[in-house]
Amino acid sequence: MSEHAVVIAGGGPTGMMLAAELALAKVDVAVVERRPDHVLVGSRAGGFHSRTIEVLDQRGVADRFLAEGRVAQASMIGTTVLDMSDFPTRHPYSLGIWQNQIERIMAAWIAELPVRIHYGSEVTGFEQDDTGVDVELADGRSLRAQYLVGCDGGRSLIRKAAGIEFPGWDPTRSNLIAEVEMTEEPELGMRRDAVGIHALGRLEYEIRDGEVVYMDRGPVRVMVTEQQIGTGSEPTLRDLSEALITVYGTDFGIHSPTWISRFTDMTRQAAAYRAGRVLLAGDSAHVHYPAGGQGLSLGVQDAVNLGWKLAQVVNGTSPESLLDTYQDERHPVAARALRHTMAQTALQRQDERTKALADVVSELATMDEPRKRLVGIVSGLDIHYDLGEGHPLLGRRMPDLDLVTADGSLRVFELLHDARPVMLDLGEPNGFDITPWGDRVQLIDAEYEGPWELPVLGAVTAPAAVLIRPDGYVAWVGDGTNTGLRDALTTWVGTPSPESISVRR
Ligand SMILES: Cc1cc2nc3c(=O)[nH]c(=O)nc-3n(C[C@H](O)[C@H](O)[C@H](O)COP(=O)(O)OP(=O)(O)OC[C@H]3O[C@@H](n4cnc5c(N)ncnc54)[C@H](O)[C@@H]3O)c2cc1C
Repeated sequence: MSEHAVVIAGGGPTGMMLAAELALAKVDVAVVERRPDHVLVGSRAGGFHSRTIEVLDQRGVADRFLAEGRVAQASMIGTTVLDMSDFPTRHPYSLGIWQNQIERIMAAWIAELPVRIHYGSEVTGFEQDDTGVDVELADGRSLRAQYLVGCDGGRSLIRKAAGIEFPGWDPTRSNLIAEVEMTEEPELGMRRDAVGIHALGRLEYEIRDGEVVYMDRGPVRVMVTEQQIGTGSEPTLRDLSEALITVYGTDFGIHSPTWISRFTDMTRQAAAYRAGRVLLAGDSAHVHYPAGGQGLSLGVQDAVNLGWKLAQVVNGTSPESLLDTYQDERHPVAARALRHTMAQTALQRQDERTKALADVVSELATMDEPRKRLVGIVSGLDIHYDLGEGHPLLGRRMPDLDLVTADGSLRVFELLHDARPVMLDLGEPNGFDITPWGDRVQLIDAEYEGPWELPVLGAVTAPAAVLIRPDGYVAWVGDGTNTGLRDALTTWVGTPSPESISVRR
């Protein structure tokens, strides 16, 4: 039986991101993925939002995705696009990039890291005891791990086997989605009718002057709302043809499908993200309608929240209770996204009263204050983990400031590439002695002259120092003293050696 510190079931975007985070923290991690390789059949998600670009930037890999994607304003409520180009971030936009491209880039990244990945292997069950988990595979082998993380998607076997409830709402609509060839020239674009929204587009497109311009080549991506909630069976080309004829009066001569799938607006969230030594992340913990495109971003950010915490517990520097903060912080974020997507689906209904409501919401949503709030939610830039009272930065993402240090200029996010905590001292040099955590925290003396502006909140007062967690969220804000720093380091970095902290200022 192979042993690993952590086994991840599922090598989709969430599982791969978590594997990268654990590998960066030098944790022995293995991924078990049912597919024979990283190739995802079908395009699936169409991209991700600003905070996800930022977390990839924090690890130094955002450029890989930006090079293949198309930058666009794609934060939406109902059918209204909310411009975020004035947001204080280096990435005031969303990125249009198909999920199969995202997974290819992620797979290439984790191949550079010490991640063991078992393709063509399926987890069929597990047994946990006081010291670890035995993970059973379909081929009869088993793996032993200290922790097992279910990143195995919405139908998660791990969630079910752990006995974790998945409360929520049953579907009210279902859609067929497919990639096909067509003998007739289709009417590209969106169509709305009494049944719902339908869309035809080509996989290859460009953004010109903020508009999607489809290329006149390549497969067509079809999305049709079904007349009834689809059955549980896999949809066929015939189902797709019938659905197209109902909406468009023709199936445009569809043939040669590479992918046909069905999704619904079922909305559910795991009641617990952890059962002993088993944790959930990504779609295994929450599912919702893809309107607004938040699912992949939520999963990647779950992974970035969980990775360093699990690493510190496995490495013995933090108590197991640190894992409780994963659910405390991430459950409310997904709950809010679920509520948002349910509102989105309601606004997409095509009866006259809902259309009137959508018009009212649209008018309000383009006003400055509501626009900023809504973009904050969709982009993930307004995420605020409840780390107690204090400076507005506490529990919020650290902005990617341009710093000047003794070694030259650098960006804050560059300091996070290794996924290690950062103590940023913006006052007089050598102001802090954090020796008891010195092997774990990078202590950086830096100068920053520019404004401090947070998404949605606006300008905030400049802090004298900040402790930044590996996920880029601020765990402590200094006012010129070290009040609370020892507690913050102990909570978020781990147990100190028995020396004291002093502030020499
Ligand atoms: C049509 C559509 C459009 C979407 N558009 C967007 C969008 O624009 N933006 C966005 O953010 N999100 C979008 N989403 C949602 C997004 O696709 C998901 O949120 C995302 O894939 C979740 O990633 P994950 O890694 O958590 O799960 P998954 O991507 O489902 O990955 C789970 C992995 O686990 C593997 N697996 C499952 N069971 C086992 C097992 N027992 N053993 C081993 N391996 C297993 C699977 O093979 C799979 O690779 C869309 C979804 C759909 C269906």
